[in-house]
Amino acid sequence: MQRRPVVAAALAVVPALGHAYLRRWTRGIAWLSLLTGSALVFAGVVGVGVGDALAASATWTGLASGSALVVPLGVVIALSSADAYVLARRDARRGALACPQCGRGVDLSLGFCWYCSVEFEYVER
Ligand SMILES: [Zn+2]
Repeated sequence: MQRRPVVAAALAVVPALGHAYLRRWTRGIAWLSLLTGSALVFAGVVGVGVGDALAASATWTGLASGSALVVPLGVVIALSSADAYVLARRDARRGALACPQCGRGVDLSLGFCWYCSVEFEYVER
């Protein structure tokens, strides 16, 4: 199934959901951990309670109540969203291009086919 980058980025506004959509479970959990961790760190910095910080990391409404955390957590969420977008675009590119020899999907960053080892040159359109 082809997954749309814009949908992935939009879903990533809810922590880990965009990555779950892309079936990148580990990465989604990593972003969720990063968000929770940074919520705790910034809660310590600005003197907000730990409960508020955890609530803030879980939902946008929580984010609104812990207003001092909006900027740092907003940055983390924006980065997570951008990451989901880039991943989805890369997946879409891979799915769209097939090896000229064996016909399987190729990873353009490698410069050769992972399956049959034929080398290829990619021309940006
Ligand atoms: Zn091949």
